[in-house]
Amino acid sequence: NQSLAELDPEIAEVLRLELGRQRDTLEMIASENFAPRAVLEAQGSVLTNKYAEGYPGRRYYGGCEHVDVAENLAIERVKTLFGSKFANVQPHSGASANAAALSAMIKPGDKILGLSLAHGGHLTHGMKLNFSGKLYEVAAYEVDPETFRVDMDKLRAQALAEKPQVIIAGWSAYPRQLDFAEFRSIADEVGAKLWVDMAHFAGLVAAGLHPNPVPFADVVTSTVHKTLAGPRSGLILTNDPEMAKKINSNVFPGHQGGPLMHAIAGKAVAFKIAAGEEFAERQARTLEGATLLAERLTAADVTEAGVSVLTGGTDVHLVLVDLRNSELDGKQAEDLLHEIGITVNRNSVPFDPRPPMTTSGLRIGTPALATRGFDSAAFTEVADIIGIALREGRNADIPALAQRVENLAKAFPLYEGLEDW
Ligand code: PLP
Repeated sequence: NQSLAELDPEIAEVLRLELGRQRDTLEMIASENFAPRAVLEAQGSVLTNKYAEGYPGRRYYGGCEHVDVAENLAIERVKTLFGSKFANVQPHSGASANAAALSAMIKPGDKILGLSLAHGGHLTHGMKLNFSGKLYEVAAYEVDPETFRVDMDKLRAQALAEKPQVIIAGWSAYPRQLDFAEFRSIADEVGAKLWVDMAHFAGLVAAGLHPNPVPFADVVTSTVHKTLAGPRSGLILTNDPEMAKKINSNVFPGHQGGPLMHAIAGKAVAFKIAAGEEFAERQARTLEGATLLAERLTAADVTEAGVSVLTGGTDVHLVLVDLRNSELDGKQAEDLLHEIGITVNRNSVPFDPRPPMTTSGLRIGTPALATRGFDSAAFTEVADIIGIALREGRNADIPALAQRVENLAKAFPLYEGLEDW
């Protein structure tokens, strides 16, 4: 019954320092968020002890009467949230959801057509070192070199030439909405399944601020921990009863053993929150923050320093900064922002002249700051800090910018009183 601090002070210290880091810096990694207290409680609970292989009512272990309630709640809530007929909430992560989804749709050796990793796609959409690139034949589409957007006419031509069994719509670094109806019509034309990976924008969909892919796709996958702000984990949705059976058997026993019941309880809580007004309002602030950032980073003083924003703006929760003409490469810009207390990740831009370890871009997202309570004034201030830092580069007044970051962090406290929970 020893506390963590008593039993393992070294790990307790990691937790303490990480809480301090999250509080004292501004988190702008587009795939991150802050899970609320209720989700942390569910995750740090006795549900972690329970084996529950199988599905509610059909388990291979006894004593599942209570965890069944949690999983059924998670399933029903996520179906209502996204308007799907079926849901599997057992995937341990986004990558596990994607592995099970692909094996439910096709067999090894079949062909997938997804957005290339270098142009904003995800590892699980066919990268050669990933299971998706090893098990399946891969064709990748790219963004247009002029507009940096997916060109649906080119995609149609490529799909007709490649004849993939699955077309993937979804991304990890793309600042615009995809046209799901058009993807559906291309998939129908070539006889492919349409898989939408909404990991990044699921929270916007839940809030009604982004088109919902569920009516168009054969299968929709997502993570729960990005814009959705729940526990680190994944989910799979479909409207097709036959596909639902395949998904279930491909998650368990296909790819996983026992489900993480503490995470599934956390998902149920996150879906409850995501159905509420506070969540919708937060997603609206997320979008507003990204738009304000894009506006600041396309103002004349910034563009004159060779810094800009891919596609000239954003429709979603992130901005892709284009540093191809800047004196800073992606690594230097990431380090500079880190020095003043803003956490972002460098990111290759499509057709990047610099290597993947340095890159010519940054991916900057607003979900975590919106969860922290940022309003338009606060987003305007952080956008200005980033604009000035990237404009000034090596000449930036680091202490002055760091002070402005600190003021923002103080004005929007995070996890108040968590030490006493
Ligand atoms: N799909 C997309 C589009 C993602 O961006 C990510 C995460 O980066 C994943 C899937 C994988 O999620 P996880 O890191 O939970 O495996």
